[in-house]
Formats: sequence, structure tokens, C-alpha cells
Amino acid sequence: MLKCDFGNLHREVERLESAGVELLHLDVMDGHFVPNLSYGPMVIERLREVTELPFDAHLMISEPDRYLDDYVSAGCDSITFHVEAVPEPIPLLRRIREAGCLAGLAINPGTPVDTIEKSVGDCDLVLVMSVEPGFGGQAFQPSALQKVRRLRQRTDDNVLISIDGGIGPDTITDCAVAGCDLYVVGSAIFEAVDYQAAINEMQTLAAMPAS
Ligand code: ZN
Repeated sequence: MLKCDFGNLHREVERLESAGVELLHLDVMDGHFVPNLSYGPMVIERLREVTELPFDAHLMISEPDRYLDDYVSAGCDSITFHVEAVPEPIPLLRRIREAGCLAGLAINPGTPVDTIEKSVGDCDLVLVMSVEPGFGGQAFQPSALQKVRRLRQRTDDNVLISIDGGIGPDTITDCAVAGCDLYVVGSAIFEAVDYQAAINEMQTLAAMPAS
């Protein structure tokens, strides 16, 4: 939810829900950890009133520990923060779980996967960034696939691997082959005339390696 029509958020959520998305990925930016600003817990809380879809919050913010309670009470179901913002992430991952949410850890393109290997046991979700965080509409960086493969080999099957940045019909099958479970799609849906057709196409392409 970064490339959507912010003037019609309620309508956008309805369109996505009826088109069959499985969750809403909410990109939170603070103008400090990343150079852009987006929205925060107040907007999320209002969205919570209009849909039952799970909320997957991606906190691209400095000091996520300071604001965690706001995102929990806004109604997020999973909360992901960056290892680049919190180099010792285990205590915060545990706090997120104790709050009843799925705990996620995100990793930027320039950060080696070893950085998070000790922490994945405390994660429900690992978010591999396939672009630099902070802007929508960037080109997919194929080096992310190597990270996904390595994480898939070394983590439990119950840890979800999500990929974020430049995901669309041209990249989603490679992500599925590498071992992703979740795909964050922005422009490839929001720039489509027909959200349902775009989502159906990508669901089919993501399922191809299994069939
Ligand atoms: Zn994101």
C-alpha cells in the first residue's frame, strides 16, 4: 500500500479485497530511516475498521521499539522491522510475539544474510528487500533470489519468506522457485486497469513451480 490512490484508500482496500489479495502490506516510512514519509498508526487504525484482511506492517523506521505498541493497538497482525535499524533484534522480535502478532525481520539489499541468521529462530517472517527501501516503483534486484535460497535452506519451513520490491509478472516465478511464500506487489497491481486480472495472473505465475 504505497503505490495506491491515497485519496481513495477505503475504495482501494475494497477493490483489493474483492480482487482476492490475501493480506495488506503496509509500508510505514518515517523520513529518517528512509528518506520518504508515508503513513503511521492512525491511518492503519482507520483502515482496520473497513476490512478483515490481515495487516502486514513493514516498519521502515528508526527506533521501532519505541513505537511498537502503537502498531499493535492499531490492529496489525504481523509487524516487521529492519535489522539495519535494530542490530540486536531478538528482544524486539520476542516483544512482538508476546503482543500476539507475527514477528518479522527485514533485510536490505546491501546487508548480508548472515546478519540475521542467529535471529531467524525468533522470526515468524523474514522480509527480503529486492529494492532499496523507501520508494515504490523500483526495478527488482536479482541478488535477492540468492538470499531467499539461502534462507530457505537454513530456516524452518514454518518461517515465512516474503519478498518486497519490483515484484510483478516478470519476477514472481523466480521468487517462487527460490522459495518465497509471500510476495509484496505494488505497481504491478496499482498500475493495472483490472486488479483482479493482475492478481490472478500473478497467483498463477507464483504457483507454476509447484505444478
Ligand atoms: Zn514493504
